[in-house]
Amino acid sequence: MNHGVHVIDTGFVRPRFDAAYLLVEEGRAAFIDCGTNHSVPRMLQALDKAGLTPASVDWLILTHVHLDHAGGAGELIAQLPNARLVVHPRGARHMIDPNQLWAGASAVYGEDVMETTYGRLRPVAAERVDEAPDGHVVSLNGRPLLCLDTPGHARHHLSVYDRQANVCFTGDTFGLSYREFDTANGPFILPTTTPVQFDPDALHASIRRLVGLKPSAMYLTHFGPVENVGKLANDLHAQIDAMVNIATAAQAHSSDKGQRHEAMKAALTDLYLSRAQAHGWAGDRASLLDLLGMDVELNAQGLGVWLDSRKTSAA
Ligand SMILES: [Zn+2]
Repeated sequence: MNHGVHVIDTGFVRPRFDAAYLLVEEGRAAFIDCGTNHSVPRMLQALDKAGLTPASVDWLILTHVHLDHAGGAGELIAQLPNARLVVHPRGARHMIDPNQLWAGASAVYGEDVMETTYGRLRPVAAERVDEAPDGHVVSLNGRPLLCLDTPGHARHHLSVYDRQANVCFTGDTFGLSYREFDTANGPFILPTTTPVQFDPDALHASIRRLVGLKPSAMYLTHFGPVENVGKLANDLHAQIDAMVNIATAAQAHSSDKGQRHEAMKAALTDLYLSRAQAHGWAGDRASLLDLLGMDVELNAQGLGVWLDSRKTSAA
């Protein structure tokens, strides 16, 4: 009943943090996302466990080119003799020439962290890359995988609708839901506004579009499948609005960017903690930050970039 959908833990950061997926249809396979260079052995192991070989893989589909999803693409595809890379048209050139991607991510994380965390990015040969505009269908041995343009988290983001399984692979568009926050009320979810392309209106619209397909589950990168899609979408919409309000308030009250950033981090932590506790989660502020500290930091950074881009475009 799992329609040949396998969850792979890429091993990035901690267990159950970063997922990739292996889809199998009658002996042929597709990966959706792939983690980093360090995840490649786990991807190959997943194939082996499914009784397949690297030659069985026809597709590596990337939801977007952020490195926790796509960093290992060049290394992985070098191991897959028959696979083609499927990527959003805005992401394709960054997979063919990863220098700009490397520089952009280094600006966020620092060059040292980049080397150890992700490893050097290996380019993908242009002739192995398929650009997937909105409505592009990938055929996995006859099983259609529909690629939808879903901006909001990033402008180079696509989501994949698998009609046969009736599930969506949402990358980061449908937020983050770590299993440590599961309670009797089900999964807890929050949006991700990682730098540098957060767009609240686009994110609302993309979430509405995915929910409109009426999938039975969303398969998130962080982490795994979640059901009860309508309820979780409402949680996301409410928090996107709350996060925009947090950003706008911090902008109004803080004269310098360091202060603004700290104010946003504190308010985001308050928001997620109050929602997690209302959800029945038993943890406190410190244990929340153990799990979400990095996301709070990145979400605050992304909101800061969004605030500054609004100022520029209004000027
Ligand atoms: Zn991302």
